Amino acid sequence: MIKNILDLLPKELIQQLLNIGEKKYRANQILNWIYNKYTTDFSEMTSLSETLRTELQNILEITIPTIITKSSSSDGTTKYLLSLHDRNNIEMVIIPNGKKNTLCISSQVGCARKCAFCATAKLGLKRNLETYEITSQVFLAIKELGEEKLTNIVFMGMGEPLDNFDNVVKAIRILQHDLCFNFSPRRITVSTSGVIPQISKLAETGLKLKLAVSLNSAIQSKREVLMPISKIFPLSELKKTLIDFRKKTPYRITFEYVMIKDFNIGKEDVKALLKYLGDISCKLNVIKWNKVDDLHYETPSTWEIKRFIDSMNVLSSAVTYRKSRGADIDAACGQLAAKNIIRKEE
Ligand code: SF4
Repeated sequence: MIKNILDLLPKELIQQLLNIGEKKYRANQILNWIYNKYTTDFSEMTSLSETLRTELQNILEITIPTIITKSSSSDGTTKYLLSLHDRNNIEMVIIPNGKKNTLCISSQVGCARKCAFCATAKLGLKRNLETYEITSQVFLAIKELGEEKLTNIVFMGMGEPLDNFDNVVKAIRILQHDLCFNFSPRRITVSTSGVIPQISKLAETGLKLKLAVSLNSAIQSKREVLMPISKIFPLSELKKTLIDFRKKTPYRITFEYVMIKDFNIGKEDVKALLKYLGDISCKLNVIKWNKVDDLHYETPSTWEIKRFIDSMNVLSSAVTYRKSRGADIDAACGQLAAKNIIRKEE
């Protein structure tokens, strides 16, 4: 079976080469072509013999998703609708911010978690992405950015990353490996809706990364409305798991809070949130809800947002108001829906 190179750790590439009677050091040459020169064609790897180049084509491939559409927002954010080999579509978003370029990537086609405020949830889960379908989004983004540097990666696109645990963990190992993408752990954030067993499992892997938790309410009954996962994994258990996770990681946990008018920004919500976060070493990112077609929620006014943020000032944690980026192209938080998810027959 032909393997995709973007699916392989260096040691696995070495094994592939040994299987065809090649020397180990060839792996470094090939990885250099891929991760430093971003070559996708073996025939261009001129430091390899012609025979090896032909042999490689018989056992390996380098495929990246096809760009179907590219939409640019007035704030510089670019959303990509990408087509996979089986005609499923996903989305990724590049968000520039000064010298930083953050890539928001997908981990699944659709999502099973049914969060009430999220456009992806409406699709249901089609399938998990393979490891190479995750790493190839990064590969593609680097090529798209050209001279500019990709500085941060966030798993906040389509899908619950921890529901595709093995492929996401392997993708992160490839993203961090110094012979591959060589990303620093502090530049990679995985965002979860709160899949407790997988958070514990992630802590056990020893993998270094930043963890973000989509919280959105610290009141159990309200969180269950917004995020049905909370019925299976309640807030109290989630907190215990996160405190344990924090002991095993150098990075503070980030809580994401989508502000929804008349739902989760009132006095009782503030009180519950301050109590929930008060004794966790964390950061709080608040963001206003972005309109999604067919969903009945509303975006709070500027005044309501300010009042909510001001009430968080007593927290010792850092509180950040993340401005929505790309809302005019449905690329903001919770808006990714890969419209036309199954590509129509040409
Ligand atoms: S917010 Fe995340 S976990 Fe929830 S449905 Fe959307 S993609 Fe899935």
